[in-house]
Amino acid sequence: MNLNSITKESKGIVIVGSGFAAYQLVRMIRKQNQELPVMVITADSGDDYSKPDLSHVFSKRQKATDLVKQTAVRFVEEQNIEILTNTRVEQILTEDKCLVTQTRTIGYDKLVLATGASPFKLTIQGDGVDDMITLNSLADYDNCHEQLSKAGKMLVVGAGLVGTEIAMDLLSSDRKVILNDRADRLIPGLLPEFVANQLYRSLAAKGCELALGTELVRVNRMEQGYEVLLANGQSCRVDAVISAAGLVPHKQLAEQAGLATGRGIVVNKQLQTSDANIYALGDAVEIEGQVLPFLQPIMLSACALASTLVGKETTVHMPAMLIKVKTPAYPIQLAGRTVGHDLSWKVDVSDRGMLVQAFDENQKLAGFITTEQRMAEGFPLLRQLPAVIQGV
Ligand SMILES: Cc1cc2nc3c(=O)[nH]c(=O)nc-3n(C[C@H](O)[C@H](O)[C@H](O)COP(=O)(O)OP(=O)(O)OC[C@H]3O[C@@H](n4cnc5c(N)ncnc54)[C@H](O)[C@@H]3O)c2cc1C
Repeated sequence: MNLNSITKESKGIVIVGSGFAAYQLVRMIRKQNQELPVMVITADSGDDYSKPDLSHVFSKRQKATDLVKQTAVRFVEEQNIEILTNTRVEQILTEDKCLVTQTRTIGYDKLVLATGASPFKLTIQGDGVDDMITLNSLADYDNCHEQLSKAGKMLVVGAGLVGTEIAMDLLSSDRKVILNDRADRLIPGLLPEFVANQLYRSLAAKGCELALGTELVRVNRMEQGYEVLLANGQSCRVDAVISAAGLVPHKQLAEQAGLATGRGIVVNKQLQTSDANIYALGDAVEIEGQVLPFLQPIMLSACALASTLVGKETTVHMPAMLIKVKTPAYPIQLAGRTVGHDLSWKVDVSDRGMLVQAFDENQKLAGFITTEQRMAEGFPLLRQLPAVIQGV
């Protein structure tokens, strides 16, 4: 591209994305500085919504518009920023410190990538594959709302945190659900087998059909709905297939620009990428080898990064953080390391739920899980856990 002919007026701080990470950062910058020029460029509508609410839209009978907390127009007025909505950033030209969209080239002083993560694409056969639904954005939900509101029976692929929460919510709204995962237990990345089994029982008691330890291999369109085939030979008709098979950090822009990437865009404790003028936060990043796709780490990152961007260099500190599993029939909270062959367990079961403590090889507390009515018992343990990212 010949940039000589392009005037690139710098927009100051330019943030790519308008999800929780981007908007939390804008709010934190404005708390400290009301004048600094800030521009947001986002591929979506820019409306502010709470993504975790997507886990319970069915039982609450909500439409996508019900989830909007503030429109993009209102947010821009309130925060005194510029925004380009429905605009995808195609390229970053690091030497020229500018971004390229389909129609414009925009200069930056400091660039922040808050590009989130995209649903993992499963390799599945059949002419219904492209109709599979994902629930990772307001637009995703808006696109499928009508189809899902009429659907009576659904297959949810992926029994991680999001897939399991969605399955339970669908059951609470009187739908029939098959929950499938190639792993042989629920939320395998966070729950040991004996806790996952309790959650399994509560889902089964609500009528969920659990197809674990087998893969979805084919989705074919039928006159009405879809025929799905699992690797174990089980086949059935459903009205919709929801894919919740995990997220992949959105790092393509960074990769093309030559920034260091691993599982996500690699950042240091100042949220700085391998280019000194480019920062990143949120679901898109990898920090100290970890991808932390949750609101609290994003909030802490936004807070630290805002200070750095207004001129007070700050590193992020992340203490041990609670993760809530939003499965009302069997609520679970956990923190620290809760899966791993090196862990030993202390399990206390009562009629009010479980308190599970995980110890490492040195007999130090590595993590804990609380269920049902025993949530409060985790709070004192949280303080004993090592920090996720130690600030300096
Ligand atoms: C169903 C569900 C339930 C959840 N529940 C919880 C929970 O209970 N607790 C919790 O802590 N976390 C939860 N999470 C995770 C949490 O919601 C996310 O970690 C967080 O919202 C991610 O925010 P983000 O801004 O990093 O990414 P996103 O919200 O994905 O935002 C990415 C933004 O980047 C934009 N973008 C991407 N590429 C480009 C480009 N090239 N050009 C322009 N714009 C671009 C997109 O349009 C979007 O605006 C949940 C997630 C889901 C899906």
